[in-house]
Amino acid sequence: MIVQVLVEKTISLDDLAARAAATFANQFGRPARFVTAAPGRVNLIGEHTDYNGGFVLPMAIDRYTVVAADLAAKGKVARILSCTVDEQVEIPLRKGKADALPVWTSYIRGVLDAYDGEGIRPVPFDGVIDSTVPLGGGLSSSAALEVAMATLIEAMSGSQVTPVRKALLCQQAEHEGAGVPCGIMDQFSSVLCQAGHLMLLDCRNQQTKMVPLADPNYTVLIINSNVKHELTGGEYAERRQQCEAAAAALGVESLRDATTQTLEQHQSRMESILYRRARHVIGEIHRTTCAAEAIGTARWEEVGRLMFASHASLRDDYEVSCAELDILVDLAERLGSERGVIGSRMTGGGFGGCTVSLVQTSAAQEMAEAICGAYQKETGIEATAFSTPPAHGAKILLPQATARN
Ligand code: ADP
Ligand code: MG
Repeated sequence: MIVQVLVEKTISLDDLAARAAATFANQFGRPARFVTAAPGRVNLIGEHTDYNGGFVLPMAIDRYTVVAADLAAKGKVARILSCTVDEQVEIPLRKGKADALPVWTSYIRGVLDAYDGEGIRPVPFDGVIDSTVPLGGGLSSSAALEVAMATLIEAMSGSQVTPVRKALLCQQAEHEGAGVPCGIMDQFSSVLCQAGHLMLLDCRNQQTKMVPLADPNYTVLIINSNVKHELTGGEYAERRQQCEAAAAALGVESLRDATTQTLEQHQSRMESILYRRARHVIGEIHRTTCAAEAIGTARWEEVGRLMFASHASLRDDYEVSCAELDILVDLAERLGSERGVIGSRMTGGGFGGCTVSLVQTSAAQEMAEAICGAYQKETGIEATAFSTPPAHGAKILLPQATARN
């Protein structure tokens, strides 16, 4: 069997923006006057900690959702074509009239409503969405869509909210528009991340600290298992509820306030499943701050150890991994440091999606080929891999900035 080289090539942000603008001109018969972009994200470490008031350490990836748009002279709708799903819709600008529209429009509707609530009224416009963020792969295409749309609303209206407020409005859009009770990581990453940096985000007080990751010898490699296990759908809510129950058993408001010592003292009085859930969260919060420090001081072995430990904890204690993700991480671990692997773990909510690995740049291509090849042999599934530098958060590409910051 010939194993393909699976390191994906993607188009640059400039090319993506040009493609969206060309589609807009073709579709609506006039040039786009606004183009905005927002990146997806990958979380290096700190999984299932956000809703426990803990730390996460994501970065924006060099994959974007862009919107090319122009105001419409009349009408009471936003006419929007998504090239990604190849569908055009008319979204009514007045609330409560979106019942028959496809699900993907609910994210946009959510953003329009959230800005409306902020006093920034939606105006009729035409738009084209295009994206290089894979949908539903755990790289947060949903936040990229929301944040690109929020950036567009701000560009078209000339009214801006603060970056933190913008991220919170997009989170609100995901909660209320799409009905997904997500934490704050995805939207904060897509808005606030800076090129060349990871973002240590304290999900309790929403403070951020940028951690440089700019050593050209190290690269972040993302491997998509290309599986998404549809379980009962209630796993996320169940984990959240178990965390709340564990916090109550430990007598703290959230697991952020608990320590390993408190947990050990209570072990005999706790249901084993709650103990294990809490052990993951408490350990993971600690690992995340340790990883940020280790990256800051270039202690790469320590970073790798923390990433592998994070994966083991998600697999065994939190039980959100799956066979395919475990295979990808095992393969990386077996290649080991001699073959340029620093660390690897599942990333995102779990049950499929991607792994994130920190690797030596010189070894990235060979490593991706080795892992994807072995994965295909073992599972029959083609994984896709790409490496990415830490990218910059959302921006307005058109109109081009003159004195804008
Ligand atoms: P993730 O955020 O990990 O990619 P989600 O399930 O949270 O996965 O969000 C994916 C959903 O977001 C898609 O199923 C779709 O409804 C919507 N979406 C994201 N990007 C686009 C896009 N470019 N065009 C249309 N819908 C999109
Ligand atoms: Mg999402």
